[in-house]
Amino acid sequence: MLKYDGHVHSPFCPHGTKDTLNSYCEKALEIGLTGLTFTEHAPLPEGFVDPAPNQDSAMSKDQLYSYIEHVQSIQEKYKNELTIGLGLEVDYIEGFEEETTSLLNEVGPVLTDSILSVHFLKHNDIIYCMDHSPEMFLEIATSTGSVDAVHQLYYQTLLQSIEADLGAYKPNRMGHITLANKFQKKVPTTQSFEREIQKVLQAMKAHGYSLDYNVAGIRKPLCKESYPPILTARLAVSMGIPLVFGSDAHQAKELPLAWNEYTDLPLSNPFVK
Ligand SMILES: [Zn+2]
Ligand SMILES: [Zn+2]
Repeated sequence: MLKYDGHVHSPFCPHGTKDTLNSYCEKALEIGLTGLTFTEHAPLPEGFVDPAPNQDSAMSKDQLYSYIEHVQSIQEKYKNELTIGLGLEVDYIEGFEEETTSLLNEVGPVLTDSILSVHFLKHNDIIYCMDHSPEMFLEIATSTGSVDAVHQLYYQTLLQSIEADLGAYKPNRMGHITLANKFQKKVPTTQSFEREIQKVLQAMKAHGYSLDYNVAGIRKPLCKESYPPILTARLAVSMGIPLVFGSDAHQAKELPLAWNEYTDLPLSNPFVK
């Protein structure tokens, strides 16, 4: 089994921990990973106001080059022991495609592999942070009319993100594609979204994108399953969509310990296109 973790945060994340890049790499060696990609939350697009109460969803723009330099120096330090990818977790935000493209055009050339994620949903001209808290999730449900409608909106936005033209450096890996389930034990849906998820997978397949098989949801007490769940991941595999494991660690101890617990799925290296 390929023990590569393609979704790791860093001390540059304002809602994460101060665990150093070094400590992630030491942990990775200790648990026998072949490598990992740092995918810090990319700076939010210019002109966008972070709706999270502490405005801490992403790294600020003035930290971006420091992040890049730090990852590059750690790549050098561990070059004989670990493969280290330099990436970003880029937000798709409806209406900010141009700003996002210009950021990607600016830094894309130095990145090895990145993730495109949807955390923000737009409804009635207001942008919400969907995964911040059950309270904010319910606020969106009040605005859209129901919890189911939030899920509809999420999958619709995800499809838009897959179809969006974000230029030559658009990430080719889709982040945690069932993130709408994050608070499912507290705010359940009344229906299945299997059909919507299948459409998402078909669109990913058509564009040649890979899937972030993200186990963060297993750690979340209100979710308790991977993004996407294992059956969906198997479906993706049967469609020929590469799966790249993602711990979504925001601290070194969240790097995956027991791989077998998660999956017997074929996992891919993010550098194989
Ligand atoms: Zn984060
Ligand atoms: Zn994310």
